[in-house]
Amino acid sequence: MPIYEYRCHSCGRRVSLLWRSFSDAERGTPICPRCGGRELTRLVSRVNTVRSEESRLDDLADPSFLGDLDENDPRSIGRWMRKMSQELGEDLGDEFNEVVERLEAGQSPEEIEKEMPELMGGEGDFDSGSDFGIGSVDDDL
Ligand SMILES: [Zn+2]
Repeated sequence: MPIYEYRCHSCGRRVSLLWRSFSDAERGTPICPRCGGRELTRLVSRVNTVRSEESRLDDLADPSFLGDLDENDPRSIGRWMRKMSQELGEDLGDEFNEVVERLEAGQSPEEIEKEMPELMGGEGDFDSGSDFGIGSVDDDL
């Protein structure tokens, strides 16, 4: 479940989207969780001035980093997401933390999505940090 950051052209926010898989992230249409805008630009390298952080991000892309990730095990996904946020050294926000906690408690991403519809958009009640959403692929009708 990769997380990518985007810049929304409609509202100008930096937003984070959680995807179920890397292929979903490539195929899907990123939708701003803040305003529903579809003109999002993926932020590929926002830390290119910090060498050490860059190499840490390289580590995140290293398949061995994903070695113990079982995408069918919510707890494994939760541990991985927590590890990733720690590697980034960045607080990704209350919603992100809640998703991680739910995953670690064994809830499936589908259940979390149902119980936290605000992840899919609507009113955000925090103004700092990044907004967080779950990406969806809408071409599989
Ligand atoms: Zn937006």
